[in-house]
Formats: sequence, C-alpha cells, structure tokens
Amino acid sequence: MATKTKSNEKYVYFFGGGKADGNESMKNLLGGKGANLAEMAGHKNLKLPVPPGFTITTEVCTYYYDNDRTYPRVLDSQIQNAVESIEKLMGKKFGDKKDPLLLSVRSGARRSMPGMMDTVLNLGLNDQTVLGLIEKSGDERFSYDAYRRLVMMYADVVIEKAGGLEPVKGVGIRKLMDEKLEKMKKDRGVELDTELSASDLKTLVKEFKALIKKHLKVDFPEDPWQQLMGGVGAVFASWNGKRAIEYRRIERIPDQWGTAVNVQAMVFGNMGEDSCTGVAFTRNPGNGDNHFYGEYLVNAQGEDVVAGIRTPAPINNLSKNDHSKHLTTLEKLMPEQYKELDAIQRKLERHYMDMQDIEFTIEKGNLYMLQCRVGKRNGVAAVKMATDMYKEKLIDAQTAIMRVGPHQLVELLLPMIDPETEKLAKVVAKGLPAGPGGAIGRVVFTSEEAADWALRGEKVILVREETSPEDVDGMHKAQAILTSKGGMTSHAALVARGWGKCCIVGCSEIEILAKDKVLITSKGQRIHEGEWISLNGTKGLVYEGVLPLKAADLSKNESYKTLMKLVEKEKRLGVRTNADTPKDAQQAAYFGAEGIGLFRTEHMFYGEGSEFPLFLLRKMIMATCEKDRVAALDELAVFVKKDIKATLEAMHGYPVTIRLLDPPLHEFVPHDKNKLQELAKELGVRVSVLNRRVLALHENNPMLGHRGVRLGVSYPEITEMQVRAILEATGELIKEGKSANPEIMVPVTMGKHELRHQREIVDRVYKQVCKKLKLEKIPYLFGTMIEIPRAALKANSMAEEADFFSFGTNDLTQMSFGFSRDDIGGFLPKYLDLKLLPDDPFVTIDQSGVGELIKIGVERGRSVKPSLKVGICGEHGGDAESVKFCHRLGMNYVSCSPFRVPIARLAAAQAAIEEKMALN
Ligand code: PEP
Ligand code: MG
Repeated sequence: MATKTKSNEKYVYFFGGGKADGNESMKNLLGGKGANLAEMAGHKNLKLPVPPGFTITTEVCTYYYDNDRTYPRVLDSQIQNAVESIEKLMGKKFGDKKDPLLLSVRSGARRSMPGMMDTVLNLGLNDQTVLGLIEKSGDERFSYDAYRRLVMMYADVVIEKAGGLEPVKGVGIRKLMDEKLEKMKKDRGVELDTELSASDLKTLVKEFKALIKKHLKVDFPEDPWQQLMGGVGAVFASWNGKRAIEYRRIERIPDQWGTAVNVQAMVFGNMGEDSCTGVAFTRNPGNGDNHFYGEYLVNAQGEDVVAGIRTPAPINNLSKNDHSKHLTTLEKLMPEQYKELDAIQRKLERHYMDMQDIEFTIEKGNLYMLQCRVGKRNGVAAVKMATDMYKEKLIDAQTAIMRVGPHQLVELLLPMIDPETEKLAKVVAKGLPAGPGGAIGRVVFTSEEAADWALRGEKVILVREETSPEDVDGMHKAQAILTSKGGMTSHAALVARGWGKCCIVGCSEIEILAKDKVLITSKGQRIHEGEWISLNGTKGLVYEGVLPLKAADLSKNESYKTLMKLVEKEKRLGVRTNADTPKDAQQAAYFGAEGIGLFRTEHMFYGEGSEFPLFLLRKMIMATCEKDRVAALDELAVFVKKDIKATLEAMHGYPVTIRLLDPPLHEFVPHDKNKLQELAKELGVRVSVLNRRVLALHENNPMLGHRGVRLGVSYPEITEMQVRAILEATGELIKEGKSANPEIMVPVTMGKHELRHQREIVDRVYKQVCKKLKLEKIPYLFGTMIEIPRAALKANSMAEEADFFSFGTNDLTQMSFGFSRDDIGGFLPKYLDLKLLPDDPFVTIDQSGVGELIKIGVERGRSVKPSLKVGICGEHGGDAESVKFCHRLGMNYVSCSPFRVPIARLAAAQAAIEEKMALN
C-alpha cells in the first residue's frame, strides 16, 4: 500500500510563464493532458500561450484510493504554493472580491478517456467575487452566466456524483436545473441560453442554490478553497465512476493507472463577439488529408463545442461541410489570430512529429492553447498520415509502421454499401461522415436497448439526438451510430472514430421522437424501432431498408500499398492463409498471403457444388465393408484431386498445407427423418439399416471422439485416398511445368506412433504415384497439427516423424482450458466481467497457459529437429497480439483467414521492430 507522506515528495507540477516543472515524457505521472500542457508551456522550442496552472499527479489518485479517499499531508501546501504562482502570473487573486482569479479543474489520465471523467469550470465564484468579475470584465451577463455554470456543474459533479448521492426519484440535480433553465427561457420567450439577461441568470443562480439545499441537503460552498478542493476530489472520484470503468474495460486501460488533475487559470471564449473556442486537428482525422482542420464557436465555452448544441463553424475553407459551409470561418473572422493559431499548429506537428488534436480559446482577441495531444484518427486516416509523414521525411519507416494499429487496418477492408445499388437507392437523410464504412441494422433509440438487442444477436443502429459518455456500452455494441445533432468533434464522432465504427453525426434532417420510438425524416417518412436502415458512414448518407454491403477495393489505395511495402521489408514471420477454396486462396494471395497454412479438405462437402461429393462421402460412410468403402472412395477421389489441384495451382508454388479429414463422420450424415429417407432411397438401402449406422456413429463427446487421425487409423483407406489425390495432383502439375508444394498434415494427433502409422501409408502411396506418373520425385512435406496438450509435451518424439508442426490453437485452447469452443458464450461474459479472464482465450492466445504449451512444443520439437518448420493455423493466427507472440517464439509462419492477412502482416512487422527496439 502506498503511504507516501515524505515531505520532499512532489505531488504538484507547475506550468506557465514560459516555464514548466514537467514535460511530455512524464505522461505516467502527469497524465497525457498535464504532460502536454507542460511541454507546450515550457519546452524551449514551443513556449506557447498556455494559461498557467498545475498538475496534481496520478500518484495522488493512487494514494487517494489506497488511503480511504484521503490525500498526502503535504498536498495542501503544495497546491497553495502553486495557486500563488498562478496569481502572480495572472495578476489576480483566487477569492479576491475585486479581481478574482477563476480556476478550472480537469481530469487527465495517461491515455485520453474523452468525456468519461468530470470537469468543473469557473471555480472561485461566489456572491462576493462575482461582483469583482462584473467590475473587471465590465460584463454583468457574462459574469452571471459563468456563475450559474459553476453552480450547475458543482452541484452535479461534486455534490451529487462525487458525494455518492442517489438522485431523488431517479432525477438528478442537473436535470432539475436544466428544467429551471428551460422554464426561464420559455417564460422570457427566447430560444437560446445566450438570449437570457444578466438578471435572469442572477435569478437562476439563486434558484439553483435553493434546489441544491432542498434536494441535496447542503449549501453551495461560497468558500473558493472549499470549491477548489471539492473539484479536485470530484475528478479523483470520477476515475471510479460507472462510465469511466466501462470505458476502461472496452479500451483496456488498467484500473490502477489513476488520473491526474489539472488546475488552470480560466480563460473565456464567451466574453463576447471577439471571443471564441474551438477544437482543431493538424491534419484531417477523417481521411488523413494534410491540411489544418477544425471547428469553433464564437462567444462560447469549450463544453458548448463538445455538447453539439450549436453547429460549430469551420476554422477555414477546407474544414467546411454541408452543414457549416454557410458559416464564417475563423480565418475570415479573426485573420490575425487564425494566422497565429496556424503557425502554432505547424510548430506542434513538427515538434511531436504526429497529428495533434488541439483545443484553443480566444479571449477578447488573445489566443490561448488549452490542450494538445496526439489526435485520434480512423484507420483510413492513420494509414494515409503514416505514409505521408514518411514521404515528407517527418518520420522513418519503422515509426510509420508502428503508427498504424493492426485493428485499424480492418477499417480499410471494411465493407461499404455496394456502390451500384447505392446509386439507385434514395437517400432519406444526410449528416456528417464521422466514421467510415457501411453498416446495416435495426433502429433502436437508447443505449440500453442497443445492448439488449445486440445480446439477442440482433444487428442494431443506435439513433440518438446526441450521445453522452453514459451511452458507450450501447454504442460499442451497435453496428453503427446515427445522431441528429453534434459536429465532427462531438462525443459520438470522437468515440466512433476511436473505434473505427461507422458513424453519422449532425444529421439534422431527421427528427427523433424517442418516446414514441420513431424517427421522422424531413420528407415525413417515419422509421420505427426495429426497422432496418443502412448507413454510408464515409459519405454521411442514410437509407431506408437493407442495402447490400461489399468488400472494399484496396487496389486504389496508394497509402495502403506504400505501407505494405514498408511492412514487407521489416517482417520476418511468414503469413499464410486458411483457405478452403481456390477463390479464398486468390483473395488471400491478393492480400499478400505467402501460402496456405490450412486447407480443410472437408469443406468440399459443404456449400456450392458439394452435393455429389457429399453423396459419395455418405456412400463411403454407410459402406459396411472395406470393399464397398474403397469403391466409394475411388469415386470420391476424382473430386478430391480436382479440388486440391485447383488450389495448388492457384497458389503458384507457394506451400499449401492440406489437412487430412478431421471431423467425426456423423457430421456428414443427415439426422432428420425426411433427409434420412431420401438418402436411403439414393443409396438403395433400407431406412432401418441407415438408422442403425447413424446410431452407431453417435458419440457423447464428438469433439473428443472418433475424429482426426483416429479416422485415418480406423479407416486407413481414407488417408490413402486423400494422400493419393494430393500426390497425383502435385505430380500432374509438375508434369505440366507448374510448381506445387503440398504439405500433408495429420490432425488431432497425440503421439509419434499414430504419426508413424500414417506416414507409412504416405510412403507406400508415394512410391506408387511416382511410378504411375513416371516421376522420380514429387515434392511434399509430411507433418502434424499440435492441438492436444499431450502432443505439445511429446513434441520431441513427434518431431522424429514430422517435417513440420502447425499449432491448432482452437483445439489446443479447448483442451487446455477444458472449455468447449462451441459453448463458451454461456459463461465467458461473466468471466470477463469479473476479470477471471483478461480476454476470450479463443480470440487471443492465453500466453501464460496455452502459450507455455506452444513454447514447449516449439522448443522440444526443434531440439530434435532444428530445421522443423513451425506455424500456427488456429483463429489466433489473425490476432495481432498472438501474431507477435508467435514471432517471439521463432515460428516460421502464422496462418489466418484471408481478410486478416494484412493485419497479421502488419503485426509481424511490428513484432520485428519491437524486437529491434528492445535490443537497442
Ligand atoms: C484448430 O484446432 O486450431 C484448427 C485449426 O482446427 P479446427 O478449427 O478445424 O479444429
Ligand atoms: Mg482442430
């Protein structure tokens, strides 16, 4: 337990006046926001106009939770000293009746958690100091507006939420105050807050205070110091608020990190028409284009921009969109300040060598920088920015590769609405394209419903006026998000962009009647809850009904191609694909697969064109003696060979790992009465005979039953037929002057004797095929899957019989955990909730358990045969973390489904770079 009380302990870091105690490298201690404020204020190349302030470290947060919500003893005096320093720089005093300094309190964790924690602005105002503010600002309306905002925020965030008070009858104090505000506007016959007069706002302050007393049973604190410490405590408390915890779970942010608290002198964007506040990016975060991009609001505070109440105006022409094109740009309205801001943003991007997301305020013509941080971007933009910056020589190739999260690549491969169908479809509404890709889903109007419906397996689109941090769970579970309000920097846009989720915001052409569960388009169309809509998030278009989705075309994406060229130079691990058809194989080759790591032969018995081969297989299964079985297999061999030959040919000499038949035979026989009758007729046997065979095939635990190599042991003729088909297909291709490299793989083995048994069949058939085709040799490798824990442990003796191993981590995970891979959904959510497991082990390799078996398998196998080729072909082969793990174990390749090949390639390159960085 951390009980730091040493008086030399530094808990408060000051910044301002061209100096700072901290810097950008201290994110763990100061949080992202605090570290960057220090960097902007104090770094010799920057020294930007940052309002002075200080950061209370994340260590204080940890202390606070470890010590029953108390602070280190020295904290108070350190805060007092820091406030004095701000006072000196600002020439004002905190709590002063004549010229009061006002402060803001904001959270700031190591990684940004937008809107998830609390903020209090305008601290230091009370009935006395407000008079001083009026005197100094000469603006009574502004002063009372600041005051009423403080009272509202304080009551909500500090007294109610941080105080752990349950809202009366479920209605929070904020809501009660909002109702008062609305009533006041109605009484005065005005629409906007800005139209209320100073005396209206003064009345509201009084009424708000009375509400606090009545409902929360305390007085609003007039003492500025009490206000300040209340605000600080509320930020720490909000680290463990419901929505922050929820967000951390989704974003995998550790609970023990804690948040820092930033206290800063207030500057006001709402001091009149020569004041404004805005959010901007050094490049366009939606598509990566290299131009300054942002939005601002005149006469407003930061919260107004994020809340999406007014439509923000573009800062320059390139930031205009359909909703804002008629509004005056900042460049035009305040050319001097825009120029200064533009120079700062260039400086910041060069300094950080990455796209920055900045917040600024202009108070009576003076520009202030309130925040800068590495900007969130979607996948398309991430790839473009990384490769552009590499070409601009701002960053090197390795940095460019590390800049793209493997999951972000998924977005480039995202399905889009089929453009041909889209051309003919009628747009029902248009909004801002906040998150790319296409999505289809059924309309729901609340986050809770989105989560409930998704749990039932429904695809939903969450439709809201605007979203708030309380909605994250439903937003996460929805296919897409559609809001009628808000801009590109609204909560919905920020969150969706971070996730790479399809999202349209500011779609003002729809009206949402949440109570009636219906949305109405501007043309009067009504779309009810549960009805389908389709979204084009790349263009911001909404359609009624279901439009078909189509895979993206990467051939036109130059940035992607550049990135993949860089990736190819760095990566050492091979990337293959799991493909069962020549079409899949071609798709994967297009994505850069270097072979097939798993060709499941049984797939020829499912889907298109499978009727006749399946009939022959069933004939083989129903055969009662070896002679009949062989006859059926001979007929089947023709199809098997054709299938394998086409796949080998499509891979042009790249290795193709062909797995011998794996599933238990009962999977191939029909179980319902009618189908059985049909089959009996086709086969010319009595139904009762068929029934007896089906019964005989029944197993209690088929996953652990008569499957994999066990089939080949019981029915060697099955192995023989498949091996013959593989070798003949290869031999024929060689004779046609083509190259082919099959790898024959035996599934579900547990020891070397089984393998030897199968190898003997291969050796015998090989000689026969060479003779038949008059070939001296036919290339092939013989190997095994390692998917039973015993096989991993016995890897040394297994290696005596194998040229290669391929880890079947689906079964290996199933058998190591004892979790059925088909039934884990029943209990996994609870395990994840209770943190009994960090992740779904079928998605990402359980490195310390199953991973240990894999490590043993690789080491023991190679101890006997150093040249042993090792790969993985379970689903984990396409999971970035698992790919990196495989790299570290020195595997030769990973194999994954075609659409995950680019992700695996990128992860492989990143693993190689991380290894180099660790060595340096
Ligand atoms: C595995 O078990 O990891 C594997 C690839 O085989 P299957 O999923 O076909 O059982
Ligand atoms: Mg398996």
